[in-house]
Amino acid sequence: MIPILVTVFAGVLGLAFGSFLNVCAARWPQEESIVKRRSHCRHCGRTLAWWENVPLVSWLALGGRCRTCKAWIGWRYPLVELAVGLLWAYSAWQIFSAAPELKSGIFSYDASLALASGIARTIFLWLLAALAVLDAENFWLPDRLTLPGIALGLALAVTHATLDTFLQSSGSFEVWKHFVAIDIVQFWFLGAVASAGVLLVIRWIYQMIRDQEGIGLGDVKLMAMLGGWVGFKAAMLSFAIAVLLGAAVAVILLIAPSEQAKGQKWILKKLPFGTFLSVGGIVSGLWGKSVIAAYLHWSGF
Ligand SMILES: [Zn+2]
Repeated sequence: MIPILVTVFAGVLGLAFGSFLNVCAARWPQEESIVKRRSHCRHCGRTLAWWENVPLVSWLALGGRCRTCKAWIGWRYPLVELAVGLLWAYSAWQIFSAAPELKSGIFSYDASLALASGIARTIFLWLLAALAVLDAENFWLPDRLTLPGIALGLALAVTHATLDTFLQSSGSFEVWKHFVAIDIVQFWFLGAVASAGVLLVIRWIYQMIRDQEGIGLGDVKLMAMLGGWVGFKAAMLSFAIAVLLGAAVAVILLIAPSEQAKGQKWILKKLPFGTFLSVGGIVSGLWGKSVIAAYLHWSGF
């Protein structure tokens, strides 16, 4: 019973935080405060009634249009709310699968760790969803999202390493020093710094060949955030997914050219790489371990 209740609660909370994400995505690019003004129609400016602000439900009830000016609200609002709701519900469910003893309310060391990393995961998923939307709409990966993401990964790694070391060393100071260093280096440094480094090298090569910026520094910071969270291997998986997604979108644009694409060389068309990288990060953050294991199995390593 507890897992179902918590999953539903996480899903509803996710819908609300998806709604908050929409507010950030609409206001940050205009440099508007996200707290100063109550929710309003982006078109006619009318302040919304509370019942026009219910995630998902209001959009469906209003048919996606403003009640007074009939302006199209857009697909992004319900889609983002639904996406964050589903991701959070799934995360909550995963926590119980990772630590079955939580079902009976037992907080063992493993269960507490699963709970802590599960809560951190919901924050990461929110950050990645926000980055995906902002890059898709504005080609912008703001530091105010990537830098806290990097810090959160580091905080998680340090906490994990410290707790592990404390348990292993049974309080002995010498072992303490030794293990903390190794764990942090392996988990966070390799993940964040090496992943960002790989992207920096690709960025540099691209600039040398094409003489223009293909990968922005925002993408590099996003990669550092991902690496610090999921580790180096899964960050590389995110990158591979991003490249495949980008290629797929480029092919679609090539086959079905829109009005604005006419007369433009498709290869010069700008694509939001950060969006693809965020989607790759969400996939590898949730299912990375099984994908990598399957790949290593099939490829015979
Ligand atoms: Zn309106």
